[in-house]
Amino acid sequence: MGTVTMPEETLALVETTKGFLHPDEGDCLYRWAAYAAGAGPLLEVGTYCGKSTLWIGEAARQAGQVLFCVDHHRGSPEMMPGEDCHDPEVIGDDGHDTLPFLRRTLAAADLERNVIPVVASSELALTHWSTPVAFAFIDGAHDDAGVMLDCVGWSRWVIPGGVLAFHDFAIPGIAAAIRAAEGGEFVAVDQVKSLKVLIKAGPV
Ligand code: MG
Repeated sequence: MGTVTMPEETLALVETTKGFLHPDEGDCLYRWAAYAAGAGPLLEVGTYCGKSTLWIGEAARQAGQVLFCVDHHRGSPEMMPGEDCHDPEVIGDDGHDTLPFLRRTLAAADLERNVIPVVASSELALTHWSTPVAFAFIDGAHDDAGVMLDCVGWSRWVIPGGVLAFHDFAIPGIAAAIRAAEGGEFVAVDQVKSLKVLIKAGPV
């Protein structure tokens, strides 16, 4: 991999953006996104307020590439009131809504020309998807059925030599999805904290 560097201003934004990604995981995502960005569009599933989007989007911007961000922005079960990841600040007039946070993040980072928010569930987006991607980061649904759907559904859009990354890989359902991917065409190449990175067989 070549040497790539995140701008200081974007790193400052990473610190103030809500989310669940450790900076070391972000740096790993950024490096693998930069590695893949020359070969095609980038994708992430589970955007929330745009913390991971800053890292992957910056790699897209530097390569003159785009990043598709799939999220319905209505939150997942673990973000509902009383659950571990609940944040009352993301509750708007019509309920849970992180899209305004994402928009502010993209504008602040000057990423609006390189990031395409897809405001839909992963399942709906997959049903109508038709674009091969060079990089996919999966951090959406964390329930067994949801993460397997994401793994099976999005991995088929990753081009040969492209990158597939998962967050929270120690969660049993996600570990099972990764094993399913590894049993197919994917090989694990990197791991930082709860982030796991795989590559699809073939030249990038
Ligand atoms: Mg996560």
